[in-house]
Amino acid sequence: MGVKLAGKPVVEYLREDIKSRVAILGEKNSHPTLLLIRVGEREDDISYERSILKNCELLGIKINVKQLPIDVTMEEVTNVFAEANTDKNVHGIMIFRPLPAQLDVDVICNLIDPAKDIDCMNPINLEKVFEGGSTGFAPCTPKAVIEILKYYEIPLKGANVVVAGRSLVVGKPLAMLLLDENATVSICHSRTKDMPSVTSKADIVVAAIGKAKFMTENYFSQDQIVVDVGINDDGNGKICGDVDYDAVIDKVKAITPALGGVGLITTTILLNHVVQACEKFSGVIE
Ligand code: NAP
Repeated sequence: MGVKLAGKPVVEYLREDIKSRVAILGEKNSHPTLLLIRVGEREDDISYERSILKNCELLGIKINVKQLPIDVTMEEVTNVFAEANTDKNVHGIMIFRPLPAQLDVDVICNLIDPAKDIDCMNPINLEKVFEGGSTGFAPCTPKAVIEILKYYEIPLKGANVVVAGRSLVVGKPLAMLLLDENATVSICHSRTKDMPSVTSKADIVVAAIGKAKFMTENYFSQDQIVVDVGINDDGNGKICGDVDYDAVIDKVKAITPALGGVGLITTTILLNHVVQACEKFSGVIE
């Protein structure tokens, strides 16, 4: 039976680290502060906002929520970003997406100061991920995958890692972060020929294809580590991953669950970025 790689201990570990850094910043009279921008009243956004508020309180991070009406104009949004970018008391900025049609998301992504872009919206931060060297803010989900692997002390240097999925939010940046860890990385996608023959030879397989329980036991082999990024509806109203967890756990060495796995860590990564932004601003780190 393979081991379940739960996200909870990773979150707890990261939280302790964040709390101690927030305390150090507090001694210098610096208080990490997040500006959250919400357009309209989407239920998903409100629920994510609640979770961020709760986590900020727990970690001692200040948060301001800017609520904008659903019919807000580009000019108004531009002004909000201009103000937040120059506000010395705001260290991280995030806007919930998707945005209503009158707002041009590509323009908005470029409005945010890269130094405050904790959710990796600005192409400058994505570019830094591809350059390597972790000087910017990487997208939270790929970062969560790296954190989970590191926490469970899974060697990445020289490891053969297959990433299934090549989206710009998960697959591609994750491949770059893994390269930065000196892994040997292959990327699979919808046109890959005979994907099981590729994935079954890897040391580590990361599934990020967005297809419920698509990767069954024939995709895997003994001694493998499997990280399932997928969050899908299984057709019966339950959450499931891209990997058929029940069929695979007996075959591999270890696997993350769809619920309580990678997804559990992403908010903590986001808030870690706020603290990092504040540390850079205060000169605590370079
Ligand atoms: P996406 O933009 O839809 O991209 C899916 C990728 O998977 C594409 O590159 C696609 O290939 C590839 N793909 C699709 N079907 C395939 C198949 N049959 N065989 C091989 N590759 C296939 O999805 P995403 O945004 O990257 O998200 C991926 C999954 O992660 C989703 O389940 C999503 O809900 C989940 N997710 C989880 C978190 C979290 O916090 N845990 C965050 C973000 C996303 P092509 O490029 O060839 O089309």
